[in-house]
Amino acid sequence: MADEVKAAQEAAPGGDTIFGKILRKEIPCNFIYEDDQCVAFHDVSPQAPVHYLVIPKKPIQQLSKAGEEDEQLLGHLLLAGKKVAENLGLNNGYRVVINDGKLGAQSVYHLHLHFLSNRQMGWPPG
Ligand code: AMP
Repeated sequence: MADEVKAAQEAAPGGDTIFGKILRKEIPCNFIYEDDQCVAFHDVSPQAPVHYLVIPKKPIQQLSKAGEEDEQLLGHLLLAGKKVAENLGLNNGYRVVINDGKLGAQSVYHLHLHFLSNRQMGWPPG
């Protein structure tokens, strides 16, 4: 089992997260995008030549905990990630991933979208 999957299986929702610390600037992080609702930054353990995360400023634990009131925000996150892709010149496509919960191998319980690019993706995903 990959280390990331093991870590994800041991992760549990609830409490503060590393992304909360990043948003509060308790941990340094170079944002590649920021607006009133979200930020984006490169993943510390990239799984592709380009791998960045888009996270909402609102601390939603995971997609399955989002509510109807988050409809606009969820769309906003996708469009923000798309803008970053344009800024980075990702003209040949990319993959967007949201891991949810134990089976989805989520390790940080603050909702985030992974954007991966600059290598050929396979299907089915692992
Ligand atoms: P997930 O497994 O979907 O919960 O993804 C969490 C992601 O956060 C992983 O890809 C980690 O590499 C990434 N990550 C954890 N800590 C940091 C950090 N301080 N800065 C950037 N990315 C991080």
